[in-house]
Amino acid sequence: MSVMGVVSRQESRRAPLHLADLDRAGRRAAVRDLGQPPFRADQMSRHYFGRLAESAAEMTDLPAAARDALGRALLPRLLDPLRELACDGGLTRKTLWRAHDGARVESVLMRYPGRATMCVSSQAGCGMACPFCATGQAGLTRNLSTAEIVAQVVNGARALARGEVPGGPGRVSNVVFMGMGEPLANYAAVAAAIRRMTDPVPDGLGISRRAVTVSTVGLVPAIRRLAGERWPVRLAVSLHAPDDELRDELVPVNRRWKVAEVLDAAWEYAAASGRRVSVEYAMIRGVNDHAWRADALAGLLAGRRAHVNLIPLNPTPGSRWAASDPAVQAEFGARLAGRGVPVTVRDTRGREIDGACGQLAATIPPR
Ligand code: SAH
Repeated sequence: MSVMGVVSRQESRRAPLHLADLDRAGRRAAVRDLGQPPFRADQMSRHYFGRLAESAAEMTDLPAAARDALGRALLPRLLDPLRELACDGGLTRKTLWRAHDGARVESVLMRYPGRATMCVSSQAGCGMACPFCATGQAGLTRNLSTAEIVAQVVNGARALARGEVPGGPGRVSNVVFMGMGEPLANYAAVAAAIRRMTDPVPDGLGISRRAVTVSTVGLVPAIRRLAGERWPVRLAVSLHAPDDELRDELVPVNRRWKVAEVLDAAWEYAAASGRRVSVEYAMIRGVNDHAWRADALAGLLAGRRAHVNLIPLNPTPGSRWAASDPAVQAEFGARLAGRGVPVTVRDTRGREIDGACGQLAATIPPR
């Protein structure tokens, strides 16, 4: 197939343009192109980001004659919910979405006392091929657009605002890029999505930048690029092994950027952002949970601006691996703590709805 053919096929898969893809200047220009005064763009943003209105029909201060055209051009329906699953008495809800081209993604809303975290996907599928992750097994379908990422947060925000989640009306306080996909492999869309999420209303959703976490396998140039934004966004690095031999297997991109290079970039990020880096470590029985590996990890992290998150491995279809024995996990954590490395165990929610870390496969499970 010709290069042109490949390009146009990708073009056709790209999501339609949406208000949330654009910054303020872009929105005003788009509205002007439709023959409307630019302040209509500000009205629409206030509705979308501030009142969480999805369709132009709800934007009743737009003149009726213009509403349709503005809606058709800038508020296309990007994601259709195919299925919603809840657990934890409704406090954890996973949504399976269908995009305009049939691509499927999932997002998970987790409400805790005093906060609510939206776990979003940045790609349909993932190209990183980590063997213990369900998303990694399916390969990459495509990058999500900025607005497709933002729409996941808007949906969670709307459910909370309308009091659909137990605990009374609320808001999304935190966003984690820990759904499907490798966020730093879709850098431009993810960075713009962070802007839209964190810019104050009417330009964005007004979520604190400190409350956003970008989780990565360790794409070194993109970590540096993110550091250059000088945002107080939290970086999480999915390390899973302190040694290159094992990490080459668990996180295949390690063959390109080794543990030492990834951590160097992480420390640069910590310095630039002023935030401690989260080091993610899925505890896999007999694979990466040995005492010597805890000591090696402590050696890499002691005295650094890091915090370790131990994640009990969640089961995925066809995987030969299991979670570590709780006693082994406790010993692993104690060895880190003993060397002064802060460590917590991730409360991974949603296992019973295949909504926990590494379980997002975006398939409708058989009943
Ligand atoms: N691509 C990004 C975001 C993905 S998911 C990244 O790799 O960081 C967020 C976290 O879940 C990552 O740390 C990932 O390694 C972890 N994870 C994947 N599969 C898992 C599983 N089966 N059990 C526990 N954690 C898993």
